[in-house]
Amino acid sequence: MAEKRDYYEILGLDKNADQKTIKKSYRKLAMKYHPDQNPDDKEAEAKFKELSEAYAVLSDNEKKQKYDQYGHAGMEGFTNEDIFRNVNFEDIFQGFSGQGGGFESIFDMFGFGGGSRRRQSPQRGSDILKDVTITLEEAATGIEKEIKIAHDVICPVCHGSKSEPGSNPENCKVCGGTGQVKEVTNTFLGQMVNVTTCRVCRGEGKIITDPCKKCHGKGKIKENTTINIKIPAGVEDGSRIVARGEGNAGGENAPNGDLYVLVNIKNHKDFQRNGADLYYDKQVSFVQASLGAKVEVPTINGALELNIPSGTQSESVFRLRNQGMPILHRGSKGNLYVTVKVVVPQKLSEKQKQLLVEFASISGEEIDKIEKGFFDKFRDAVNHK
Ligand SMILES: [Zn+2]
Ligand SMILES: [Zn+2]
Repeated sequence: MAEKRDYYEILGLDKNADQKTIKKSYRKLAMKYHPDQNPDDKEAEAKFKELSEAYAVLSDNEKKQKYDQYGHAGMEGFTNEDIFRNVNFEDIFQGFSGQGGGFESIFDMFGFGGGSRRRQSPQRGSDILKDVTITLEEAATGIEKEIKIAHDVICPVCHGSKSEPGSNPENCKVCGGTGQVKEVTNTFLGQMVNVTTCRVCRGEGKIITDPCKKCHGKGKIKENTTINIKIPAGVEDGSRIVARGEGNAGGENAPNGDLYVLVNIKNHKDFQRNGADLYYDKQVSFVQASLGAKVEVPTINGALELNIPSGTQSESVFRLRNQGMPILHRGSKGNLYVTVKVVVPQKLSEKQKQLLVEFASISGEEIDKIEKGFFDKFRDAVNHK
């Protein structure tokens, strides 16, 4: 077996990462490599498994401690099932795991999916998660985006029956077609009857003898499709939009899964956002701040003129009402807060220096020091050449 990579390295983290960072990093990478996003891509699947294992260990304090101390050697004796026992993937991919949905397929991947709760038909189709990135301007107006997905649909040839048309499946002999088997065990408390899913027919009660050639007996095929998703004005970064029934097809007579679209909003070059409010830093010269000035400031709806009164101090904040982001599903808007940053000039011409010295003199400032300062600077500059 190949040498295992470092769990921190796999998740792109340093050893001091806290639980929040570990979770965030895993979520981001796992969405990228999730099997539902990369159908039939073995490499992505391997990557996803590797990520999930690293997360399972590092998100569990006890296991993390062992790993931090002994590395992979500390994990010896843990089976896959031990490693994954306490991981709450549903929490990670919140909203992405319906009943019988996506996350059972993860456990199938690791080969320990069995359990009586599974394989009860009709089984709802799994959900699909996609992400879309929009600009802050698009978030302000709302936008419709085309999302390309590959989802399972019911096979058009066998209509989901999995059998080649004209052939009929046989009843499962092991469970007599019920899909369930009773196991009786003797314990010191008496006989216990345990009903489990039939392993031979996987709970379906039927054995396909002549699988459909179109879908290879799966009852479903992959289909590429485009879905228009309406992103509402005022959407927050990290919101999920659900398109019901646009996920993968379920078993026979079972509902489809859903499509979840995760909305990412790009950082804006001018604005910081907090809820519906926007923040902008406006640089002004000390002359503008002293004398007052009309300056142009950008807003999410286009530029506006802002009146800076004379004597404005650096870090003063001006509120432009209703120039923020729309508030989701309401008519109102947030505000734009403009913070004035008074900039001290770094390069001055001789003439400008003279005027400032004169200015200081009139203001009664200690000019001797200022002049000496200028002289020192001048001398330093000469000496360094
Ligand atoms: Zn078929
Ligand atoms: Zn059976």
